[in-house]
Formats: sequence, C-alpha cells, structure tokens
Amino acid sequence: LVAMGITFSGTAQNTGIKSSIQNAEAKVDSVLALMTLEEKVGQLVQYNGSWDLTGPASEVGNKEKEEKLKKGLVGSMLNVLSIEATTEAQKMVMENSRLKIPLMFGYDVIHGYKTIFPVPLGETASWDMAAAERSAQIAALESVAEGVNWTFSPMIDISRDARWGRIMEGSGEDPFLTSKVAVAKVKGYQGDDLSDPRTIAATAKHFAGYGFAEAGREYNTVHVGENELHNTILPPFKAAADAGVATFMNSFNDLDGTPATASKMLQREILKEKWDFQGFVITDWGTIAELVTHGLARDRKHASEIAIKAGSDMDMEGRAYEVGLVELVEEGKVEEALIDDAVRRVLRVKFKLGLFDDPYLYSNPETQLQIDYDQHLREARDIAKKSIVLLKNEKQLLPIKSSVKKIAVIGPLANDKDSPIGNWRAQGEPNSAVSLLEGLKNAVGKDVKVTYAKGADLGMGERSFMKPLKINTTDKSGFEEAVEKAKNAELVIMALGEDAFQTGEGRSQVNIDLPGVQQELLEAVYKVNKNVILVLFNGRPLEITWASENIPAIVEAWLLGSESGNAIADVLFGKYNPSGKLPVSFPRAVGQEPLYYNQKNTGRPANPVEVTYSGYQDVQKDALYPFGFGLSYTTFEYGDLKLSSDEMDQNGEIIVSIALTNTGEVAGKEVVQLYLRDMVASTTRPIKELKAFEMVELNPGETKEISFNITNEMLEFYNADKKWTSEEGVFKIMVGGNSRDLQEAEFYLKK
Ligand code: BGC
Repeated sequence: LVAMGITFSGTAQNTGIKSSIQNAEAKVDSVLALMTLEEKVGQLVQYNGSWDLTGPASEVGNKEKEEKLKKGLVGSMLNVLSIEATTEAQKMVMENSRLKIPLMFGYDVIHGYKTIFPVPLGETASWDMAAAERSAQIAALESVAEGVNWTFSPMIDISRDARWGRIMEGSGEDPFLTSKVAVAKVKGYQGDDLSDPRTIAATAKHFAGYGFAEAGREYNTVHVGENELHNTILPPFKAAADAGVATFMNSFNDLDGTPATASKMLQREILKEKWDFQGFVITDWGTIAELVTHGLARDRKHASEIAIKAGSDMDMEGRAYEVGLVELVEEGKVEEALIDDAVRRVLRVKFKLGLFDDPYLYSNPETQLQIDYDQHLREARDIAKKSIVLLKNEKQLLPIKSSVKKIAVIGPLANDKDSPIGNWRAQGEPNSAVSLLEGLKNAVGKDVKVTYAKGADLGMGERSFMKPLKINTTDKSGFEEAVEKAKNAELVIMALGEDAFQTGEGRSQVNIDLPGVQQELLEAVYKVNKNVILVLFNGRPLEITWASENIPAIVEAWLLGSESGNAIADVLFGKYNPSGKLPVSFPRAVGQEPLYYNQKNTGRPANPVEVTYSGYQDVQKDALYPFGFGLSYTTFEYGDLKLSSDEMDQNGEIIVSIALTNTGEVAGKEVVQLYLRDMVASTTRPIKELKAFEMVELNPGETKEISFNITNEMLEFYNADKKWTSEEGVFKIMVGGNSRDLQEAEFYLKK
C-alpha cells in the first residue's frame, strides 16, 4: 500500500485483546444481518498489495483497489508487508467504510518470516515435531509484529516427484509423516485455537492433488483415482482440519476432470460436510478466473457461479467474485444463502483473530512486540542442525578430526549467503545466511588453514521469485584454482547443489543432477584428492549416483535458512551428531520419478532389488537412498521384534517392542520407524506404510526397549466400499531405522 501512495493520519484504537472470541457465532450473525449483498461479496474478495501484475495499468488498478477498500468491498489483502502498510490499509477500511469490518492480512510465511528456518522438506527431515511447531510459533510472532495475521502455510501436498519444483515446500512422500507435520505447524502458528494474540491463522494447502501433477510439470493435470485420493492425498488435510486449521487453500490443478476450485466433491462434500470444517476456503491465486482457461467457464461471471457453488469462499486476486456474484444472486442463479455461508466463515475467522477488538494488532506503540531476534537465530541453528541428513560416511572422514589442519572448501555454494535462505523466503533478507565457509571459519581454531575456491558458477542470470531460472554455463575457468587448492589440502569440503530459486513454484525440471558443470568439478577435484566430503544444498532429491559410488562422505544440507553454515559446521565437526532422516526417496536416475517407498506390488512377484519385468532394464528399480534413511556418527543395533500377541480384535491392541542399542562410541539419536502392511484387502494396498515413529536418544553402550501400540485406527484405510475402516486379516509389522532395512513380524486382526 505504500506503493499505492496511500497515507493516513489518525490513531490506532486498542480496546483490549480477543474478547471477541466469546459468543463469536452470535456476533457473526449480527454482523451478517447488517450487510448489503455488495458488502457480503466484498468480504469474499482478496487483493494483492505489494506488487501488481497488471503492469503499466497498475496505477489504475491501485486506485480502484483503494476505492474498494474505502467502500468496505474487500475482505482481505495479501502481500502487504510492513506494520506501516498494514496499518494504512486497515485504516482505509476502518475510517471510511460503512460497517468497519477489519481486513485480514495474508502472506506466504512458509519457513520463517525474518528469521529463516530450513525449507519445509528439509525441516521435515528432522522428524522432530517439537522443532516443526517451534519454528512456526516463531514465524507467527515475527509476522504478527508486522500486522500479518494469516499465513498460507503449511503446504501439505504429498509429493513424490523430484522434478516438481514445489517438492521443497512440503514434507515429502509420506502421508503419515506429513500429517504429523501438519498438526505441529497448525499448533505452532495458531497456538490454542488462536486465543493468544501472538498467533496467526494457518492455511492447509493446496486442496487437493497438486503434488501429483503429471510428469512433475508445474500446474499440470492430475489423474488420481478415488483410492489414491483418500488414502494418500487427503490424510494430511484431514489431520489439519481436525487440528483446527483456520483456512484451507484450494489448488490450481484439474483433478480427474474437475479443477479443484470447481470441485464440490472436495470442498463441500469432503471438507465442509464430512469433516465439518468451519473455517473458509481461499482460492489459490486467480484460480476462479483460471476456470476460463481450463475450459470450464465461459467468462469470470460463469466461473464465479461454478466456484461459489463448489465451496470456494474467498477469491484471491481472481477479480471474478467482484464482477460476478452480485449479479448472479440478483438473477437468481446463485442463492444468497451460499454467499451468507461463505461470509459467515470469513467473519468467524476474523472474530477468532480478535480483529474486531483491535484491528491494528501491534501497530499501537504501547502494544508493540519486543522480539528477541538473536534468540530466534539460536533456535534456527538448532533446528537446522537437526534437519541435516548424513547419507554416507566412509574412510572416517566425519566428524572432522582435530588433527586435520588444512581444509579446502570448494564449490559455487560454499560462500553463497543467499541460496540457503531458499525460495518463499518472506522477509528473509537477501544474502543474510551464514555461508558454509563462514560457518567453518567460525568453528575452527587458528591453527587450521581454510582455503576457498568457487570452482564454478551456478550460471544463473537474473534471480528472482518471479523468474524461473535457466542454468546455462559451460565455464570451467575456475577449475584450475579449485584443483590446486584441493591438492594442497588434507581434506576437501565441496558445496554443490541448487540455487535458492531452483525449487519452488514454477521450478519444475527434467534434470535433477548437479546443475551446470558441478559434476565435472566434483570429478576433477576428486581426481587429485580422495578425501572429499560432499555437502549438498538443494530443495529436491538430486540424482547423485556417481557421488554415492565414489565420494566417501555425503551430507544432505538442504537449504537450511539463516544459520545454515553454522549448523553444517556443528555437524561436520561433531558438535552435533546427525539424526536427520530423508522424508523423500533419492533416485538412482531421474527416469525413476515419481519414486516412493509406499508403492504397491504389481501382479508380478515383487523383487525390490533385481531387475524384473516391472522394473527397468538399465537401472535398479529401488531408491539410491530410501525414505527414512540417515546415518549417525554412532551405530545402532536392533534386537528382535516382539509382539504382545499375534492376534487382536477391533477394540484391542498389540504392543510391539524392540530393543535398540547404541553400539558405537558417541551418544546419538535414532528415529525408530514402524511400518505396516495389510496383506490381503478389498483394494490393493501399499507394500509398507509408515504408521508410527519415535526419536530415541542413547549413550554409547546403552540399550532401550522401544514399544509401540498397534490400534485398530492404524489399520484403517479407504476401502472398496468407500469406507474408512479396517478389514479382518493378516498384517505385517516392520520396524527399523529406514524404510528398507526392517525387522518383520505378523499378526491377525479379528473383526
Ligand atoms: C501459490 C500459493 C501461494 C499464493 C500466494 C500461489 O501462486 O500457489 O501457494 O500461497 O500464490 O502467494
């Protein structure tokens, strides 16, 4: 709004916080009763505030938005980015409109607001739900201090295709793990149902199926059947709804012939009826208008009719509801009751947010939040180090020994202070991350010589959120210096991978190997020094088959946020013993994508390793590094799997226990994972599915008995009768430290 040239005078009112929660339903009704049809439709309109895509016409666009705000014909804005700007926009409504219904301010606070945490895929690798909750809580606090009271997070699309750029924004391939993260995030952002003024509304997105875009191509058509929709895609959304998430965002994609925005089945039948969701559905950007491009609607008015009937409540910059809905009601094509229901949902969230008590939140100097950003950075470092996954550690290169005195740090990401901030960085400052080089220098004593060579450029042109990247470089002029420095070092740390803007929206890729000339650089360096630790920076699984066969140590460091370099150094020098586990399979070759552990058998006998007719002729069909995989500086040994009984009935439970021993020399954490398989069912079922996990910390030599309770609920699925239920029969239980190496037992469910 600053960009719109809008200025105000006047004082913020602050009449106390969140009394508006009491009797909210009655208050919602009383507000609704005062509203004209036009004002109601206004509540269903969301405008963009910071940049306007209308180009040269933006001046006109902004003027028009200003008018609409003053008339109370806008319910929310997104991308209004400072306390001054949110205050200005709010005043425009509060001081001019008839009913003074405060605006909600939405923003993509995806992995931090100013303090940046690991990208969601990376943070999920921590398998630490307290960490996932805490980073959301911190992000909420930093957001609300700037007047942002609504985040478009968590993104809980199951994604199994590394070509899809948005795989970075979610929690990977598994519905159970993603559901756990969904709940942790909702709790972190919203606290106890938004009752604390330092919390913000969360959004479960994108509803639904977006992660299954065909061939990993952005915005592409999704062909999933009912079975996969219910068993794989919907569970995290159900978990978010049950956790009380305030809003849902629908998705761009067409799902089996119906774009999500037009899907009555998703939005009305499942979300609002079956799940009894009381909040509202915001569309994704412009998706109502996109019904025209999809070939489903003739024009925006027709699109509005389809979308409101399907249960899309608020129009994000689609400029459709504002042109269509009033007329549609007047012509009798849309019942006013549908509009009332949508408005009621919006008002309900506004009351919960306390906006009717204090529309200005923290803009009032007396209530301004004091934020301890240094403390937030310390916590960002802690969460970042927990997100790192040790993929390979041979020749005992890690942790780096204190006897090592000459280290060469090589690669385009070694001194990159920007990429670790990642895409969807909210107000994370450009170039504000601790680079790996800085982190290493902070960690070593004066007697250790650290040399650096970039070696190669990532080869990007202009980098920005709006512009997809084209990596295009053949320049090897930096190789010579890199090779020279590698020759003169005892140990080489190579920092390779992806630029921040290589993953995220609009960043699908056909190739997922090391971009540019990085593979050649790695090989050139390895030729002269075999003691190489490869540190990977990436937002998607990369094809690193050569490295896994040749390079002795590999550390997956994702895009870890503000404290990236310090967190990596903590792991490399053994100040923190790595405990992360992959939330997504790493392929041997891109042609395997989509690749995921919880696949189904074909009718042909299963053999996960050797080439079979259902595999490939040229590459082994399983993952290079499977889901749930991650090493430690210590070793863990699993004892035999014990079951309290080999039969259970529907109301009973079986206790599964296993002894875990730390057989190495240092203390460490292990994520013990439990998988189940329904051996014979009314529909085909995955060969294994994660159903429980526990993080266990053990000292050297220590043994702990870990136990899990198997309950009927864990055995349920969407079956051939379209019911969420369990079926009598044999189940296989598998427990271990990753989805591939597991101990097995069986039991019988009697119904
Ligand atoms: C994305 C959403 C995001 C929205 C608002 C869309 O392009 O798909 O995830 O929340 O923009 O920025």
